[in-house]
Amino acid sequence: MIKLLRSLLRKQQLTGENILESQGHCSTCNQEVSFIAKNAWLRDHFLCSKCGSIPRERALMQVIEQFYPNWRDLIIHETSPGNRGASIRLAQECKVYRPSQFFPDQKLGTEHNGMRCENLESMTFGDESIDLHISQDVMEHIFNPAKAFQEIARTLKPGGAHIFTVPLVNKMGASKLRAKMRNDDSIEYVEPPIYHGNPIDSQGSLVTMDWGYDIVKCIFDATGLFTYTLYIDDVNKGIRAEYIEVLVTVKPNVVK
Ligand SMILES: [Zn+2]
Repeated sequence: MIKLLRSLLRKQQLTGENILESQGHCSTCNQEVSFIAKNAWLRDHFLCSKCGSIPRERALMQVIEQFYPNWRDLIIHETSPGNRGASIRLAQECKVYRPSQFFPDQKLGTEHNGMRCENLESMTFGDESIDLHISQDVMEHIFNPAKAFQEIARTLKPGGAHIFTVPLVNKMGASKLRAKMRNDDSIEYVEPPIYHGNPIDSQGSLVTMDWGYDIVKCIFDATGLFTYTLYIDDVNKGIRAEYIEVLVTVKPNVVK
């Protein structure tokens, strides 16, 4: 049966037939579009016909719209933004959008190639200065995620949130460390190294964590903040894929 499915998928890929197609509203280009996949791995191949976005980018933008419909008026920091999808919409429509990237040879907090140099584990933003932190498939590449979550919590304004995607590959299993940094900055590989594509590094980004649903407990243990895990399956919004969860860690408003 599996062999039959595989040969069917291969045939479809070779002939260019659509595996999945739908019409509807794209949250990242804000237009009525077609969504088409010619490859069964929808996470990377179920594309918007107009902006080329992928499902997790549309899911993230939809969650931003739902939780913070006033996002255009907020101070938004996005770490390691992409060159399409939600990153483009945020950059174009948000009044104060601060993209950042970690450049190892640049001073933290300085501008470089139109990006602010920031290390998520040691940010230069002031306490309670950011309304929304956005990250898209970044938190599986952090050597000290607890420190990064603490930095995000420190810099969030009360009422703000970290809205992010991260592949929860271990699902119900425990989150597992794949690699850690030793005190001398060398890397200790706990598991065989896996790399994801990185637009600013041809070597790719090392995966340091295989996260499971218990990521919300890791965040709580590090910061005391609660996190929503949202699963959207809506083919007419082009949101259908494996590892499609969007997480929202909320810093509560202080009641005075
Ligand atoms: Zn689109």
